[in-house]
Amino acid sequence: MEYSMIIDGKPVKAEHHFDVKNPANGEVVATCPGATEAQLNDAVAAARRAFPAWSNSSDETRKQCVQGLADVLANNMQELAQLITLEQGRPLDGLGFGSFAEVGGAEYWCRATSELSLEVEVAEETDEHRAEIHRKPLGVVASITPWNFPLMIAIWHIMPALRSGNTVVIKPSSLTPLATLKFVELAQSVLPAGVLNIVTGEGGLGRMITSHPGIDKIVFTGSTGTGKNIMRNAADNLKRLTLELGGNDAAIVLGDVKPKDVAMNIFISAFINNGQTCAALKRLYVHEDIYEEMCQELTAIAKTMTVGNGMDDGMQLGPVQNLEQLNLVMELVDDAKEKGATILCGGERPEGNGFFYPPTLVADISDGTRLVDEEPFGPALPIVKFSDVEEVLARANNNPNGLGGSVWSNNVDAAIALAKRLECGSAWINNHASLSPNVPFGGVKESGIGVEFGRHGLEEYTSIQSVFVPKQ
Ligand code: NDP
Repeated sequence: MEYSMIIDGKPVKAEHHFDVKNPANGEVVATCPGATEAQLNDAVAAARRAFPAWSNSSDETRKQCVQGLADVLANNMQELAQLITLEQGRPLDGLGFGSFAEVGGAEYWCRATSELSLEVEVAEETDEHRAEIHRKPLGVVASITPWNFPLMIAIWHIMPALRSGNTVVIKPSSLTPLATLKFVELAQSVLPAGVLNIVTGEGGLGRMITSHPGIDKIVFTGSTGTGKNIMRNAADNLKRLTLELGGNDAAIVLGDVKPKDVAMNIFISAFINNGQTCAALKRLYVHEDIYEEMCQELTAIAKTMTVGNGMDDGMQLGPVQNLEQLNLVMELVDDAKEKGATILCGGERPEGNGFFYPPTLVADISDGTRLVDEEPFGPALPIVKFSDVEEVLARANNNPNGLGGSVWSNNVDAAIALAKRLECGSAWINNHASLSPNVPFGGVKESGIGVEFGRHGLEEYTSIQSVFVPKQ
């Protein structure tokens, strides 16, 4: 199957193509166009031409369009979910959040975003004037998405941009472009030409986008290293930025918790999408009184997991999405083994073509080991023992990342007090990684800049104009 880009409402082919491969077996799923610089320029020009009419369309028109896009997702759920599984690997009904759930979640986010609006605020009222705060769209927004939740994250970027009156050029990860290409093609039945464009390509295209003078804002989800590059390259025309970057979320489980009560929730929070989730639970700190029991409960769950091709019935976990990521996970686990950690389960790559790796739990490990200090972004979880709450809080915070964090305890007030001292953008109690389209989500420290979702997320696609209305 050969895919086309969509520029100015029309399918566009390219001279060069690249293959998209199924991580479960290495088979080529489709070929995609590699955009030239001229084609990127065409996409930006189309978005710029579409901007005046789109930004001046009524709020109700844009709301209806975003709802129409939610219908597009709902009406094409089967095809989109299958594309996600074929390109990303996650099972259709996988653990916690399969490919069907990704399309359903994308639809849900669309509908919630359609209901958001940015009312005019009054900043000051004097005898002379009323100072109003108006929110104006920025212009052309470029979205650059990663390979872990390809469609969901595209929707997180596109919908607030369109809802607030911007036009969009999206570039999906070259590893997982298919569901996004299909969605943008389908979206043309709802949107005016040029409002939503898609370009695809391998290395280099992202850099061309971030330094393009015709783009006003970049919204990016991916690695911290790439986020830093984007920030540097975006400086020439002071592009606005929302950067949702890596995380190494800590969870602190206090000694009053019964491991059996929380083990499944903790396991899902860590292994959702095979651990390839920015806000997954990645460092599990467990009080010494319940450490052994927690290790046993989690191991028992891990051993029940079915790992295989996501298109097969009954699979809970699929392959790691790409070999580079799998190699990183194996490197971190092997390093932990060498440092004397105990592998409770998993820890060996099975024979075969796919990038499979079993859910791996690593005990008797502490900070200062790579698997604890670095983000594995894959199916390996370190379980770290602690005895003192103040000390574990300091260890949890002693990391350059600051995306999410959680505290688990039957004493909810004490857990809230502790969670508020975690250096992270989202804090959960007896839970981890639950997100809502109404609640701002973003990282502190090196986990990002800005937030997504809700009114605060929508505001990031606008600039403020203060209007001084004189009193007659
Ligand atoms: P990257 O950050 O490298 O890639 C994400 C997106 O950015 C892709 O679309 C990629 O395009 C694009 N890109 C790459 N380089 C540039 C650049 N210089 N300028 C602009 N865009 C660029 O992530 P990877 O996919 O390589 O994953 C690496 C690590 O990132 C993982 O190990 C994980 O830690 C983290 N990650 C975090 C995610 C999150 O949700 N926070 C999601 C995915 C990864 P292309 O690949 O097509 O060249």
